[in-house]
Amino acid sequence: MSGLQHIACDLCDLLIAAPTIEVGQCALCPRCKHKISRLRPNAFVSLFAYAVTGLVLLVLANSFGLMQFKLAGNVAQITLWQSASELYFDAYKILSVLVFLFTIFFPALVLLMIIMFLITIKTGIGKFYMTSLLRLIFTLIPWSMAEVFIVGIIVSLVKLVTIAQMHLGWSFWAYTAFAFCYLKVLSLVDRYQFWHWIEGWQHD
Ligand SMILES: [Zn+2]
Repeated sequence: MSGLQHIACDLCDLLIAAPTIEVGQCALCPRCKHKISRLRPNAFVSLFAYAVTGLVLLVLANSFGLMQFKLAGNVAQITLWQSASELYFDAYKILSVLVFLFTIFFPALVLLMIIMFLITIKTGIGKFYMTSLLRLIFTLIPWSMAEVFIVGIIVSLVKLVTIAQMHLGWSFWAYTAFAFCYLKVLSLVDRYQFWHWIEGWQHD
């Protein structure tokens, strides 16, 4: 098996020979010192745990109210799903689809694909699509913006508390916890380590 010969630096695009590192070691780009890879000891288990927890939290975030407004005696509640769909009915159709894709669909898909990838590495089931799956994961990651959505909610809250009485629902906390798990997953996703796992698995 020829193996992974070269890898490009994410920051400066320098093509370098794939480093041979041991678990716990870190490889840096010789030109810009950007971290190329770090073989973490428990990356596999941690990734699986955070990805599954993230998906469960995302389902929970879609099951309750996101926030409640009280203004002049009127009470209104919005769910996570409505935060996107209401825009659709308010004639912001494209924005509505983008909010749905970036905050719910793509993050859910990335987590689901990472779980599928890890299961394939462990069991060998579905190995024929492994390379395509990995490419799709790395293509979609920049398009998932769960953390940006949380910041957006907080910014709008700061504005809204001045005109209405606000109450954050369970969905907000579930989504915040989901965003934390999602960021943990992203911090553990390592292009080189993923290929390294495929390599190891192909040699078994
Ligand atoms: Zn570099």
